[in-house]
Amino acid sequence: MSLLTVGTVAFDKLETPFGKTDKILGGAATFISMASSLLGVKTGIVSVVGGDFPEEYIDLLKSKNIDLSGLEIIPNGKTFFWEGKYHNDLNSRDTLATELNVLENFEPKVPEQWKDCKVLMLGNLHPLVQKSVLEQIDIRPELVVLDTMNFWMDHTWDELMTVIKEVDVLSINDEEARQMSGEYSLQKAAKKIMTMGPKTVIIKKGEHGALLFQDERVFFAPALPLEDVFDPTGAGDTFAGGFSGYLASTEDYSFENMKRAIIYGSALASVTVEKFGTDSLNELTKERLDERLKRFQDLISFEMKL
Ligand code: AMP
Repeated sequence: MSLLTVGTVAFDKLETPFGKTDKILGGAATFISMASSLLGVKTGIVSVVGGDFPEEYIDLLKSKNIDLSGLEIIPNGKTFFWEGKYHNDLNSRDTLATELNVLENFEPKVPEQWKDCKVLMLGNLHPLVQKSVLEQIDIRPELVVLDTMNFWMDHTWDELMTVIKEVDVLSINDEEARQMSGEYSLQKAAKKIMTMGPKTVIIKKGEHGALLFQDERVFFAPALPLEDVFDPTGAGDTFAGGFSGYLASTEDYSFENMKRAIIYGSALASVTVEKFGTDSLNELTKERLDERLKRFQDLISFEMKL
């Protein structure tokens, strides 16, 4: 069981109704790999940072058993930076700054020992970088999952379409699914996206849960109702990392198992949003995760005679 991810390893500056941060550790690959590794999956990152990236963050990722042999460090470069401000409902946010920095000319290199990974999670990044990583894997992975966002749809649509047709699962949020498909109904959006390549489409709806579509089948998982949501940054990536990580850990890619994977992704995402950045995921123990999963089970199971 192994999972390789490519995505941003970043500095994030965040503002939510509950507070502000200076530059803290963020990035899609960071959240994805932390979630996957928590599930006991051998996990590696392909990404790039600048010389300004603190040793302390490298140590933190290593302490989570994340393999950083694919993390390039450009000593005189600057790390990718993203700044976001959340609205009062926490469901929507404004991007105040996106500085690609070292990502601008990034040519990903998949380390030799990762060229046979079982699951490849193409995290939110330039689609040509995602494609290059996929092309470097010798034997096609058993599962390829892709996440993207409006930024790449706006700026690199054609490139995105060339990589999307190669993947098994697409994971995006409702707004992005509508933008990608031009359809308002999420059911229609998922069907249209399936014609673009992925057999399975996951549409994330923030605090309203996530939908899983495959052929004519649909599954819905709610988000865990939480008393305190502090910072939603990284929830989508944690979800994707938990989903793909669970599938990697079980090596079962059936629709039935994907339902369980969605619950794992949702449980992990519910942890991420409780503190700023990676803080809450960093402190998560197996016992607390099990307790979350149990709460999910109680939330959605009921008996009914028909
Ligand atoms: P999420 O909240 O799961 O959608 O993802 C938040 C993470 O995405 C943050 O930690 C950012 O560093 C990262 N991010 C923001 N904008 C981009 C972008 N254009 N490309 C890749 N990653 C991004």
